[in-house]
Amino acid sequence: MTVAFVGLGSNLDNPVRQVESALGELDTLPQTRLLKRSSLYRTAPVGYADQPDFINAVAQLETELAAERLLEELQAIESRHGRVRTFPNAPRTLDLDLLLFGEVVLRSERLTLPHPRMHERSFVLDPLREIAPDLKIP
Ligand code: AMP
Repeated sequence: MTVAFVGLGSNLDNPVRQVESALGELDTLPQTRLLKRSSLYRTAPVGYADQPDFINAVAQLETELAAERLLEELQAIESRHGRVRTFPNAPRTLDLDLLLFGEVVLRSERLTLPHPRMHERSFVLDPLREIAPDLKIP
């Protein structure tokens, strides 16, 4: 069993509904259980500013899946929410980032852990602190 943290974000097509339904879907992934979720945070866009505000949240999961398999499941949820990759920092219906996977530190072609930009993003750190105030980020 591994405790993992996932960051959720949306700024298109009813972002509150996108994030709430994705939180429910995380709880239905195989061999995975949603342990905790943060409240929803409204945040200003980072990078490309001319787009709507984001709704962000963080979820804490317990999973028996391997990290790369969990990432595939997250990407499948993104696809079901109609995510189309256009340009970096573009508006999106749903973005799921694997923030932490236990204590794992990893850099492969498809996956970097901890998530490389989480440390500099208050829209990740604020909800993370809400549900795991004592967490140490490796
Ligand atoms: P994005 O378009 O921002 O959702 O980035 C997705 C890309 O980042 C995918 O190609 C993933 O393989 C890669 N990636 C690397 N590390 C992570 C991570 N910790 N969580 C999510 N995606 C990751």
